[in-house]
Amino acid sequence: MHYYSTRNKNEKVNFAAAALTGLAPDGGLYVPEEIPGYTPAVLSALASMDFCNTALETIKPYVKGEISDNELSNIITSAFTFTAPLIPVMDRYTSELFHGPTAAFKDFGARFMARAFSYLRRGEDRPLRILVATSGDTGGAVADGFYNVPGILVTVLYPKGRVTPLQEKQIAGLGKNISALAVEGSFDDCQALVKTALKDSELNKRTALSSANSINISRLIPQAVYYSSTAAKAYAGFFDPDGEATPRTNKSAHSNSPASQKPVILCVPSGNFGNLTAGLYAMKMGAPIKQFIAATNINKTVPDYLNSGEYLARISQATISNAMDVGAPSNFERMSAHFSLEEMRRIILGIAVSDEETRETIVRIYEQAGYYLDPHSAVGWKGLDKLRAENKITDETSCILCTAHPAKFSEIVEPLVGAVPVPASLKCAMERTIEAKTIPADATALIEVLSENI
Ligand SMILES: *Cc1c(COP(=O)(O)O)cnc(C)c1O
Repeated sequence: MHYYSTRNKNEKVNFAAAALTGLAPDGGLYVPEEIPGYTPAVLSALASMDFCNTALETIKPYVKGEISDNELSNIITSAFTFTAPLIPVMDRYTSELFHGPTAAFKDFGARFMARAFSYLRRGEDRPLRILVATSGDTGGAVADGFYNVPGILVTVLYPKGRVTPLQEKQIAGLGKNISALAVEGSFDDCQALVKTALKDSELNKRTALSSANSINISRLIPQAVYYSSTAAKAYAGFFDPDGEATPRTNKSAHSNSPASQKPVILCVPSGNFGNLTAGLYAMKMGAPIKQFIAATNINKTVPDYLNSGEYLARISQATISNAMDVGAPSNFERMSAHFSLEEMRRIILGIAVSDEETRETIVRIYEQAGYYLDPHSAVGWKGLDKLRAENKITDETSCILCTAHPAKFSEIVEPLVGAVPVPASLKCAMERTIEAKTIPADATALIEVLSENI
């Protein structure tokens, strides 16, 4: 499979190059040259397929000729030690994407990317050092994804005092091949420091450097897996039992599925639109998806674009669903490389949800169903309600992609509905001790620390 840059169709590379470089030299994002289809045999078996097999069938064509089926299978079983249970809640399904080690959907992409990197760099004698700047959430998923992965060292930079205690433990509590730097500055400072270090010629002579940001294609493709699995199960009327991390007060409360054999609408709480783009790939591959809902908070650049036809990037505004506070979603460039405005309008319904509506939804669903939603998933829940009220959606099987466990955002959820049950993964992270070095927001300081470590 070839990948081309969204800014130049002739700028083509293989999967390894697209994954290991991240961004194309012209600043574009890599996209697959063609989106493969599932075979009819796979399509008809998808609903009852085990998650790792769905992953193998989904990812295989994207790495063909570079990673053998056997190696890919090893990567997948090591990365996906958890699944995405499909859970009926009231009149819809939730696809719980938070059963991984950091309790958010980014675990799927980060864990696959880490193992793919390690495999693609086999035989290299120098370790690869990955630099990541984080405002809180991505750092934890990337740190955890790369933890103990051979041949790779990770340095996470985060703004000192500006991440939650849990996030700090997820970033700075692992040790081994993961080191953490608390930067005396903002997230933007952290990002600027990473950019400067990546360009430093002395440092680059001494070590192989890379970044692992969310636009990496090797983080995106594995996310298509849970779309196909979710849609096929929902279409067939199947569902899963509540899992250990399912945030419901009465876990045996449900017994039947909301609807079946109807076209499936998947509602995706969106920020940078990496998650939704992966869904578009799953749909093109043949998964039984009718439409997507792009549910955003007040940072509604894409819903506005779908309405007006005009794309206006803007400065992001702070909300209680802060992992979606994005005013200029980078994956929009990928979406428009594959689809025209007309096609996007047919496939994607945009909707924006306010903080007040988000809070009201968390309370209402807890009261009516004993189910705890995190603020991002609540944006998705409310988005579907609003589109139904506008009669833009009628007869459908619908599913909300729940992107984070509510305990991860307990600062917001607990004042509304009381104590949230904490999953084992987060309890384990809370017991870690923080080991971070503090540095000033100054590139020389960063380069010095990195030089000592090499
Ligand atoms: C990252 C994130 C999102 C947004 O996903 P995108 O792929 O950036 O659209 C939504 N919810 C949570 C909890 C996240 O961490």
